[in-house]
Amino acid sequence: MIEQTQLFDCQSKNLTQKLTFYSSLEKLNRACSNCDRCSLSQKRQQVVIGRGDLQPDIAIVGESPGKQEDKTGQPFVGESGMFLLKMLKAVQLDSSVYFTNIIRCRPPDNRKPSAEEIKACKPYLIDELRLIEPKIIICAGATAVAGLTGKRESITSLRGKWLDLEGTAVMPIFHPAYLLRNPSLEKDSPKWQTWQDLIAVKLRLEQTLKF
Ligand code: SF4
Repeated sequence: MIEQTQLFDCQSKNLTQKLTFYSSLEKLNRACSNCDRCSLSQKRQQVVIGRGDLQPDIAIVGESPGKQEDKTGQPFVGESGMFLLKMLKAVQLDSSVYFTNIIRCRPPDNRKPSAEEIKACKPYLIDELRLIEPKIIICAGATAVAGLTGKRESITSLRGKWLDLEGTAVMPIFHPAYLLRNPSLEKDSPKWQTWQDLIAVKLRLEQTLKF
């Protein structure tokens, strides 16, 4: 479980913003909707807040909102988000899922978020995870892994290996947009490897739910 006291440790490691602990997701989301902590606030159409089961088995943390997300205000509703949902359904991991991103406003031209933007937005993500208490976190893509856990390696070396975030298991996977560009299902292809990673999540979740 992610505790408030532990979150203060995160602040000294890689946060610059003062952490605020909201008493509900509603209050947190309201604060995000009016946020201008970083320059992404100037070009967004909408702040993209998390969606899904509010007491989820799985939280999916992606990189940043894309065009469709910016338009609708919802994460993982574009082509790659839909593709990931399809994969989750195929391994029956779709019944209790919450979707969010490490930043909540779309970077122009879908560029990667900067380190400063991630730092500015991270307190929201940490507090969101504290409020929803997922049993397992799936992190999609190297930028999301680095933003959430501070681990900076290629996704090829990170994927499939369990990480820990204050006692919550984190599974890094390839970003679904990358999988869409690499459709092969051959053994050891990125898609094949992602199936293995999702199956590992399913097995761990089943073990967790037994206790
Ligand atoms: S990306 Fe995050 S920190 Fe930056 S303006 Fe949007 S909500 Fe605020």
